[in-house]
Amino acid sequence: MKKADIDSIRKRLRKRKGSSRDVNEFRIPNVTPGDSKTFRVFVLPPLSKGDTVAGGEKAPGAFPEGFVFYEHGYHWIDGQAYQCPRCHDRQQCALCNLGFELMRKTDEQTERRKISRVYLASSKYAVNVYFLDDDKNPEELRGKVMWWSAPKTVFDKMEACIYNTDAGADDDPQAYGAFWDIESGHVLLIKVGEQGGFNDYKQSKLLAKRVPLPAPEDKIDEILNSRHWVPGKFDERDSDMMQKLVSRILSNDSGFDDDENTKAPPKEEKKEEKKEEKKEEKKEEKKEEKKEDTPPPKEEKKEEATVPGGDADEEDLDALLAQIRKKEKK
Ligand SMILES: [Zn+2]
Repeated sequence: MKKADIDSIRKRLRKRKGSSRDVNEFRIPNVTPGDSKTFRVFVLPPLSKGDTVAGGEKAPGAFPEGFVFYEHGYHWIDGQAYQCPRCHDRQQCALCNLGFELMRKTDEQTERRKISRVYLASSKYAVNVYFLDDDKNPEELRGKVMWWSAPKTVFDKMEACIYNTDAGADDDPQAYGAFWDIESGHVLLIKVGEQGGFNDYKQSKLLAKRVPLPAPEDKIDEILNSRHWVPGKFDERDSDMMQKLVSRILSNDSGFDDDENTKAPPKEEKKEEKKEEKKEEKKEEKKEEKKEDTPPPKEEKKEEATVPGGDADEEDLDALLAQIRKKEKK
């Protein structure tokens, strides 16, 4: 019997029940125009093999390459999700390959977008997060550990932080390095607004102030042991199936029925995902066709510099830490 069988049995059972919704997954519902939501979390350190995870089980390994995030993505075809070998495992994916191939054949932007939407999976970056136990977070989330699939917009900020080597100028402090370091890391402010009908994350950021995991000392182990084994949340990838899907598409003269295939899956975040896909497409285009010089999304940097309220967020953090320490002393 294969080692992973029990996982797949669990998943099939869950599917039969008609719900593969994981209560430990943090999902952000669509934000309505003019509205915004904020959450403050601390991204927890990457798991190592044997670490205790939620439910008391042991982590069977680490996330690929020992990263703090788990990259994943899926194809949505004929009302069914197929996990993408490229996004999950950096393996060849016949469907993505077909998408890239078709993209190379046209310079027409609308057509390229359509190809991207139909054939390419877009990556999400799952992290274990601890919700700060303060009144800035919704009550039901405070002090909880959940896993969250960060969209690329937020992932880019995490990546920038990792590449960043110092705290920046006094008047422009920056988060840098290992933001998940529980002794000296950075709180992630997830700020969700709405733009063009999609959730928009570009005002999210890692707060510049370096802080320990903002939780009472005696809770730290419990928090770490509540991390989730994220890779186990997804179906195994099936490269043969991706090939079969491609064969099916290629043998069908009319190609894919776009309407059928782009119907939103039963996921709250689909809208936001589609937008991410567009961004992903830009990235893929750059990768695939270097001659096409798509300028980087400049707006993000501009906005970051002008986001007001950064200081208030940092001050709150001081207050929260002081509160925790005071409670500890009692
Ligand atoms: Zn794929």
